[in-house]
Amino acid sequence: MAFFKLKLHWQILIALVLAIVAGLLAGREAALLGVSVYSIFDFIGQLFLNALKMLIVPLVVSSIIVGVSGIGGSRNLGRLGAKTIGYYVLTTLLAVLAGLFVVNLLQPGVVEGSAQEVFGLSAERAGFEAQFADKDAGDIVEVFLRMIPTNVVAAASAGQMLGLIFFSLLYGYYLTRIEGDHAKVQGDFWNGMFAIMMRITDLIMRFAPLGVFALVAKTVADSGIEVFGPLALFFLTVVAALGIHFFITLPLLLLLAGFNPLRHYQAMSAALLTAFSTASSSATLPLTMESLEKNAGVSNRTTSFVLPLGATVNMDGTALYECVAVIFIAQAYGIELGLATQITVVLLALTTSIGVAGIPAASLVAISIILAAVGLPLEGIGLILAVDRILDMMRTSVNVFGDSCGAVLIAKSEGEQGILQGPARG
Ligand code: ASP
Repeated sequence: MAFFKLKLHWQILIALVLAIVAGLLAGREAALLGVSVYSIFDFIGQLFLNALKMLIVPLVVSSIIVGVSGIGGSRNLGRLGAKTIGYYVLTTLLAVLAGLFVVNLLQPGVVEGSAQEVFGLSAERAGFEAQFADKDAGDIVEVFLRMIPTNVVAAASAGQMLGLIFFSLLYGYYLTRIEGDHAKVQGDFWNGMFAIMMRITDLIMRFAPLGVFALVAKTVADSGIEVFGPLALFFLTVVAALGIHFFITLPLLLLLAGFNPLRHYQAMSAALLTAFSTASSSATLPLTMESLEKNAGVSNRTTSFVLPLGATVNMDGTALYECVAVIFIAQAYGIELGLATQITVVLLALTTSIGVAGIPAASLVAISIILAAVGLPLEGIGLILAVDRILDMMRTSVNVFGDSCGAVLIAKSEGEQGILQGPARG
C-alpha cells in the first residue's frame, strides 16, 4: 500500500490527523459491532506504550554504561559531563525565562470575580487533592536523596531513573578501570545488550503510526474541544512560550553552531511526533536515540551519554510549564507575586524539572511542590487539569527537542563530523 511506502514521519503525521477526526467522531460512547471504539483506542495505545516502556530500563542502563566506558578516561568524562550539564542548565533557564516573560505579558489568570467560578475546577478534582496534599519543599530534597538508591533493582522496578542513571554512570566508569578478561566480557555484554535494544526499537518504531493513532484518538475522545473555553488564554500563553523555545531559542543555538535547524526538525520528526502522542520523554527515548544516530548522524558515544541523562534531567518544556502554571494560579487567586517570589519560582522550576520523571502529567507533582513552597493554595492545580494533557503532549515534544539539540551541539564541540548532513531517512 502507498501509505507504507511513505517516510515514517509522514505516516505518523497522517495517523495523527486521522486520530483527531476519529477521536472527535467516536467520543467515549461510540461502538463498533458492540465493542466500544474508545476501549479499542485505549487497548492499542496501551500496547504501544508498554512496548516502549519495556525498553527503558535495559536501554538506559546499557547505553549509559556503553557511553561512559567508551568516553575513555576521567578527563574526557569530566569534560563531556560539564558541557552536558552546562547546556542543560542554560537552555532550561532560557525556557523558564520565556515562560516568565509571556505569562507576565498576557496575564492569563487575571479575571474579574472568583477564579473557581470563572475557570471552573476540573471534574477530576476529587481525587487530586489527596494525591498532592502532603507535598512541601522537603519533597525536593527527597527527589535528590533518591539519586543514590539504596537498592538499584528496586529503583529500576519503580522507574526511579535518577538512581538508575547514577549507578550506571559509576558502573561504566569503573568498567574502564578493571582489566583483562573481565573488562572484555563486561564490555561485550553491555554493548550487545545495547545493540539488541536498538534493534527492538527498530521493530517498535514500525508500529508508531498505529500507536500514535490510538493514543491521540483516545486523548481527543477524552477531552473534546469544549475544555478550552475559559482556559483558552492560559493555553495560548503556554503554547506561545513553548513556541518561543522550540521555534526561536533552540534553532538559534543550532544556527549559531552552523547547523540548518530545518534539517534537524526533519531528522527528529518521528521522535517529536511520538513524544507528542505519548506525553512521555522516557518512553520516547528509544526513538530519540535512533533518530539522532541514524538521521542526524550523531555518534553513539555522544547520544548514549547525553540522551538518557537528558530524558530525565533536562526538561525545558516542563520547567517552562511549571513556571507559567504557578504564576497563572497566583494571578487567578489575585495574589501578587513580587520579583523575589518570581525568582524563587524560576529557581524551583529549574530544580524540580530535574527530578520530574519523563512520564505523563509528572509536572503536576512538581507544581504542587512549588505552590506549597511559595505559599499558594494547592487546590489551584484543579484550575489547569482540564487542559493539562494536551499541554503535556506539547511540552514533552519540547523536552525531547531540547535533548536532541544538546546532543548535536555537544557532538559538534567534541569534533564530530558529518552531523545533520546527508539525506534524512524517515
Ligand atoms: N510528560 C513530561 C515528559 O515526559 C513530563 C511532564 O512535564 O509532565 O517529558
